[in-house]
Amino acid sequence: MNLARQLYELQELDLEIESDEQALKQVTGQLGENRAVLEMQARLESEQKRLEEFKHQQHTAEWEIDDITGNIAAAEEKLFGGKVKNPKELSSLQQDVDMLKTRRGRLEEKALGVIEQVEQSEAAVAGITAELKTLTADWKRQQKQLSGEMKKLKAALADLKGRWQRLSDGIAPETVDLYQQLRERKGGTAVARVEQGICRGCRLSLPTTDLQRVRGNNLVHCSSCGRILFLA
Ligand SMILES: [Zn+2]
Repeated sequence: MNLARQLYELQELDLEIESDEQALKQVTGQLGENRAVLEMQARLESEQKRLEEFKHQQHTAEWEIDDITGNIAAAEEKLFGGKVKNPKELSSLQQDVDMLKTRRGRLEEKALGVIEQVEQSEAAVAGITAELKTLTADWKRQQKQLSGEMKKLKAALADLKGRWQRLSDGIAPETVDLYQQLRERKGGTAVARVEQGICRGCRLSLPTTDLQRVRGNNLVHCSSCGRILFLA
């Protein structure tokens, strides 16, 4: 095989290795990444806390209402029981009953508002729970897929690196060094294809003498960009 072709193939392998390594890095970064699930769990916990608080308020209001209802019953028993006959006392009892009933009315209104909040919060908890379930299932599926991709990429990389090694073993070490130094300096492309008399590395036309030399088995560098020329 022509030396320029061997180096060109080495470069193709290097490009594939780099792209797979990049993909592997990305997959590894996504593996175990569960921020969205954690955020949803935190939202659920906070909504559950709110719900508990509302339920507590509801119970407190209900107890207060029961308490007042008891007080009203006691006052009414005095009022209508016949034991109290003094008109002044009776009028005062009636005032107590009226006052208690007004207070109970306000508490009942407040309790209704709290019950509405409890219902809204219960709906929110149910909604978030469903979202969390979907999110967790999606996450598990994604993680499984990512593990599969990681396995595939690792196998592909092992294969590519083996091929790279075998190919480079057939090339003089100083030439491999030259190729690698050139790749570093030239943004990853050490070997440039020649197409229609043009170096694809710098897109400039090659002098006829260069073109003739490229057809031989020597390594020819582009006189403009310095890359190794490869005629496919
Ligand atoms: Zn060039």
